Amino acid sequence: MSTDLEIARAATLEPIGAIAARAGIPDTALEPYGKYKAKIGLDFLRSQAAKPRGKLVLVTGINPTAAGEGKTTTTIGLGDALNAIGTRAMICLREPSLGPCFGVKGGATGGGRAQVGPMEDINLHFTGDFHAITSANNLLSAMLDNHLYWGNELGLDPRRVSWRRSMDMNDRNLRNLVLGLGGASQGVPREDGFDITVASEVMAIFCLASDLADLQARLGRIIVGQTRDGRSITARDLKADGAMAALLRDALAPNLVQTLEGSPALVHGGPFANIAHGCNSVMATALGLSLADVVVTEAGFGADLGAEKFLDIKCRSAGLTPDLAVVVATCRALKMHGGVAKSALGGEDVAAIERGVVNLVRHVENMRKFGLPVVVALNKFTTDTPAEIDAVRHAMARIGAEAFLCTHWGDGAAGAADLARAVQRLLSEGHARFRPLYPAEMPLADKLGVIAREIYHAAEVQIPPAAAARLKKFEEMGFGHVPVCVAKTQYSFSADPTRLGAPEGHVLPVREVRLSAGAGFVVAICGDVMTMPGLPRRPAAETIGLDAEGRIDGLF
Ligand code: ADP
Ligand code: MG
Repeated sequence: MSTDLEIARAATLEPIGAIAARAGIPDTALEPYGKYKAKIGLDFLRSQAAKPRGKLVLVTGINPTAAGEGKTTTTIGLGDALNAIGTRAMICLREPSLGPCFGVKGGATGGGRAQVGPMEDINLHFTGDFHAITSANNLLSAMLDNHLYWGNELGLDPRRVSWRRSMDMNDRNLRNLVLGLGGASQGVPREDGFDITVASEVMAIFCLASDLADLQARLGRIIVGQTRDGRSITARDLKADGAMAALLRDALAPNLVQTLEGSPALVHGGPFANIAHGCNSVMATALGLSLADVVVTEAGFGADLGAEKFLDIKCRSAGLTPDLAVVVATCRALKMHGGVAKSALGGEDVAAIERGVVNLVRHVENMRKFGLPVVVALNKFTTDTPAEIDAVRHAMARIGAEAFLCTHWGDGAAGAADLARAVQRLLSEGHARFRPLYPAEMPLADKLGVIAREIYHAAEVQIPPAAAARLKKFEEMGFGHVPVCVAKTQYSFSADPTRLGAPEGHVLPVREVRLSAGAGFVVAICGDVMTMPGLPRRPAAETIGLDAEGRIDGLF
């Protein structure tokens, strides 16, 4: 069997101008980055603002397991299939991070015959957006430390600096640092640490900004820390917002690429869904909606994290009204939710599916709480048996949800044709009545309670006194109306990664709360989740390299 990279390499990509033309983007709007990638100029985006909007389809999934689910693959397969049956579809995805690429998960450009390309470029440096985001983040850090060094006119307390440096790499050694050591001429010593770029507030701002002016305004509102008497100091106070916006200007233009079947795809911005809000940029989604009849977009990890934040943070902030949710599941992953070990997934086990399907049931029911019609995409692996597939179908029928068997990984667009026709039908029926889970005016702690009870089925939220006091303080500062961005493990509805299936009655332990005043949300870090991941014992990087012809090998 071919690897994703071998399949990608065997495909012939079209010049990006041809893809753009079919998508309705004129040549004058293209800023090509080589032959197969282009940024779409912001002037063109402005010219599209008043156009009628297409429909918005969210692809989400069950809680991920080590067995793999295939949300990106399904987003691409569905987009290809919609185009194949005559609906003009645009695919919107996140840019991959180097952390998972070199860690456990590998790249994020889909798989099999449902991929976007050129995959080596997209997975590695692409058009440099992450470099720009990381640089803007660290410029603010450098200006902050420089301010302390040159006399600290603003009176920032070095012990109350909350702004952290960032890097797009899994590097646990950088989580906690003391910097500025070495004497008076080497800076002011203080504690700091790195977050992975995809968890940084600059990434969130980049993805939520509606234009350059909004980008700079949001950057200016970033709170970097407090004075001794508790007054907030912002990036604007440090006069960093202009230069940060300058670094991000070119990056803010969405990136156009193509699928192996020639569908257009906008791949732009990339916050993680466990420790950040988990979906591509508002700029890309808005552009897609102005060009296509249907935008198919992915939210990361399970629907408890990615979809909830897509709906409560991104859609609310950008005024988007999604029309449909597609929940992706696999028999293998459902068997793991039913208690089967990864090593034992080879054989048929209908009983395990019947136990594990509770995870899928809950995600489907949760999506309905947002007023969205839901369909299930059962992403077929070659090991799935007819009895296992029937077990999933029956469980879905019991809750009135349709499940479609999809083989786009092996068959390309044809493999997702049934799903695409169902999506087309549901969109034309227009049943969506989107509503966020909680109102903006609800107190911050109560918002956490609603997410925990309604989405995670937790009995209660445990907020330590220091975090509760901070939430109160955020409200006094005028940030009571913002949504809450939960950071927790992706593997479980609970904060315990080992509790698979559909746990009930657990406690959501909040560890820390951070205000992202520029992004416009409060982050609640729950359980043991880390905002700077580490590499596993055997990182994927060990098997990536160059072959004799200088081509990249081992990426997946
Ligand atoms: P997600 O977006 O849910 O994290 P991806 O779509 O990135 O998942 O897929 C993860 C990996 O699983 C990819 O390497 C992909 O090739 C593989 N994969 C996805 N679907 C299938 C399938 N039906 N059969 C075999 N491998 C698959
Ligand atoms: Mg994905």
